[in-house]
Amino acid sequence: MKMIFENYSLKKHNTFGLDIKARFFASPENKKNIIELLRMGEFLKTKPLILGSGSNILFTRDFDGLVIKPEIKDITLVKETDDSVFLRAGAGVVWDDFVAYCTDRGWGGVENLSGIPGTVGASPVQNIGAYGSEAKDCIEYVEYLDLDSLKKVTLSGKDCGFGYRDSVFKNSLKSQTLIMHVTFILSKHPTLNIGYADLSDFFKDRECKGVNDIREAVIEIRNKKLPDPAVIGNAGSFFKNPVVEITKAEQLKKLYPTLKTFPAGEGLSKLPAAWFIDQCGYKGKRSGNAGVHSNQPLVLLAYEGARAEEILNLATEIINTVRERFGIEISPEVNIF
Ligand SMILES: Cc1cc2nc3c(=O)[nH]c(=O)nc-3n(C[C@H](O)[C@H](O)[C@H](O)COP(=O)(O)OP(=O)(O)OC[C@H]3O[C@@H](n4cnc5c(N)ncnc54)[C@H](O)[C@@H]3O)c2cc1C
Repeated sequence: MKMIFENYSLKKHNTFGLDIKARFFASPENKKNIIELLRMGEFLKTKPLILGSGSNILFTRDFDGLVIKPEIKDITLVKETDDSVFLRAGAGVVWDDFVAYCTDRGWGGVENLSGIPGTVGASPVQNIGAYGSEAKDCIEYVEYLDLDSLKKVTLSGKDCGFGYRDSVFKNSLKSQTLIMHVTFILSKHPTLNIGYADLSDFFKDRECKGVNDIREAVIEIRNKKLPDPAVIGNAGSFFKNPVVEITKAEQLKKLYPTLKTFPAGEGLSKLPAAWFIDQCGYKGKRSGNAGVHSNQPLVLLAYEGARAEEILNLATEIINTVRERFGIEISPEVNIF
């Protein structure tokens, strides 16, 4: 097994770049080592924290426990039919490497999720989504270790409680699982999904020939729109888009005709949180060393020297201002520890 580090800085392991310390840190490469580590950590009062690339986490204080970053890195073809392949990928596989693995072979399903930072292990946690696709559409099984019993559990995709940026792993199983593998079903004859506005614009004057074209387009669009965490600390969208009753959405739309609304299941509408944040004048605003991105107001920035408290205070101020002005509750997408 690799080393266990003590009083270990997580600065390189969270995309806000915050210099937070973990009492213990280890990156085991297989199930045996993970179980050994969990047994060793049993004396600690705090449950272990499972970390991927830290691209969806805001650490607000040092973590007085064991941080485990699983490095299981295999990708295995477990089943193949005339139409589909089933790929089982380790939690530590970089998500975008997995997407490239699929698109290079012409297998479809995850191409619209190209360029999302993070790991395969985290992909079911918030059911990552972008450009008209969500991970849930391709997830067959999630294999995890129950952190109490240390038993392996296999959960089928339909039992994962997937919703918009949501799953059982954020709710009833919160802090209870270490996801080791995720099995995806990919199509050998993919239907190309370019319905999302940015993608249909991109392909207005050019042909989309396959999943690789979608991958390239998505990466190009993302690079133009989103700040690179290697340049400035951020965790992508800090806030989720609020989902409200259609009647509420219609009332708001009458008052504010520029507000866009999107269907979100029976009787519900999804509203763009970015629009509300922009209307409240936060686009490009800076408060101390925390700020709001000037093109994409969903993204909070950690300027050099930012403290977690500054980011959290700015997030809270935005949530309160939007609530007071519009009666709309926006909530963080980022996991706050
Ligand atoms: C620039 C940028 C753009 C982004 N764009 C998008 C986007 O378009 N769509 C989108 O959905 N997200 C987006 N995100 C958010 C982020 O990429 C995803 O949430 C990603 O899945 C997080 O992966 P991670 O490995 O970094 O997880 P982490 O941030 O390390 O962890 C996230 C959560 O998952 C848990 N977790 C991680 N690994 C495991 C595991 N193996 N077992 C159990 N629990 C685990 C953690 O405890 C934590 O609660 C973006 C982030 C950035 C920085």
